[in-house]
Amino acid sequence: KALSSDEVIGRAEADNVRFINLQFTDIFGKLKNLAITTSQLETALKGQIMFDGSSIDGYKRVEESDMLLKPDPSTFQIFPWRTGSHGNSARLICDVCNIDGTPFTGGPRNILKKVLGELKEQGYDYYVGPEVEFFLFERDEKGNPITKIHDDAGYFDAAPTDLGEDARRDICLLLEKMGFEIEASHHEAAPGQHEIDFKYDEALATADKITTFKLAVKTIAKQHGLHATFMPKPFRGANGTCMHINQSLFKDGKNAFYDEEDELGLSQEAYYFIGGLIEHGRELAAITNASVNSYKRFVPGYEAPTDVAWGICNRTPLIRIPGSRGVATRVELRNPDPTANHYLALAVILAAGLDGINNKISPPPYYDGCAYEMDEETRKKKGIKRFPASLNEALDEMEKSQLVRKTLGDHVFNTYLKVKKQEWREYNEEIHQWELEKYLSLY
Ligand code: ADP
Ligand code: MG
Ligand code: MG
Ligand code: MG
Ligand code: MG
Repeated sequence: KALSSDEVIGRAEADNVRFINLQFTDIFGKLKNLAITTSQLETALKGQIMFDGSSIDGYKRVEESDMLLKPDPSTFQIFPWRTGSHGNSARLICDVCNIDGTPFTGGPRNILKKVLGELKEQGYDYYVGPEVEFFLFERDEKGNPITKIHDDAGYFDAAPTDLGEDARRDICLLLEKMGFEIEASHHEAAPGQHEIDFKYDEALATADKITTFKLAVKTIAKQHGLHATFMPKPFRGANGTCMHINQSLFKDGKNAFYDEEDELGLSQEAYYFIGGLIEHGRELAAITNASVNSYKRFVPGYEAPTDVAWGICNRTPLIRIPGSRGVATRVELRNPDPTANHYLALAVILAAGLDGINNKISPPPYYDGCAYEMDEETRKKKGIKRFPASLNEALDEMEKSQLVRKTLGDHVFNTYLKVKKQEWREYNEEIHQWELEKYLSLY
């Protein structure tokens, strides 16, 4: 039930909304906010609220910095955690426009919309269900997060070991109030690690939901005296945090990845889509796994992929085809993590799959062994590439990618590479604790 601008104004009045947060993300996925009072709502909905684009990472230079926010009325949502006698707060997710009102090509949401538009022309809709995980850490007396995990429970463990259960339950209740359909919520494999799954939706709606999800998780965790982090691998020797992307294309209201005649129950489109993801998988890594820490996940033994291969119900390669067929037929991409700007990540993932369809890229045969145990000879024989082992390697791959450049546009492509290369240099120049422990007395 998407609202029109007029309906938003009506709802805001009826629900005693006093403040509205105009939300958008910078090119690294960080949520940005401009709060207005309801008196400015009409102006805002007309797309006339100006901001300084040069102060947002990856947007514009200071000489041409005036930009406009154009709220998407269908994203109007009251924050359930900020209600009270002094009035309610709500949010609108915005597209970013140039001062003349044209869409800013560097806006992450605009970039996703552009790829979705190309897909629509071919008669498809893109549906995405993300599995976003997170860790809960404790805070000190001053409220600052500390590196102490709040429990030592494991996969599917139930209370009372699972201290995060209360926080998790409150997060689920809150998300439901905000229109999410929660499918599952459970303790994950690592101590202090949790997962909450919500129902798949059209890709742009899902991307907006990920924005809301992250904010809700952090907000509620804080209310419970905990700190929620989406950092991918806070500990060595335990599972890291992923954001599996479950995806399917629909055509004429039917799941276009399903074909009951096929031996594996997959359509030609599904095979080509997988082919595109395998072909471009390494090029997307710097977008789907955006931090130095992301690559600490990609080691054998922790259900994270190490090889650019696909499998059926196999949790070791990059892509898994879960057992469900019919409407739930889907391709699960297992490398993404929540450090990604989710708008850009979905844009490049879809562009890769679509390239597979448009250029009829057949995937290699599926791999049914444990990819963690694959030896170099098998890898060579099957032509299976390894997933990038570091942000540095991923950035090099991205730099060579025509597909990623075309999808993101030169502005975002170049800015992203520049900033992330600097991030890598900073890390690389640092002397880490591990090095001191390893070498100080050895040499
Ligand atoms: P896993 O077995 O990998 O733990 P989950 O059950 O946790 O999988 O999550 C599955 C996700 O896939 C959910 O978000 C669900 O809504 C989503 N999903 C189901 N069917 C489809 C579909 N046709 N297209 C995209 N996503 C789907
Ligand atoms: Mg799951
Ligand atoms: Mg599940
Ligand atoms: Mg999980
Ligand atoms: Mg999964």
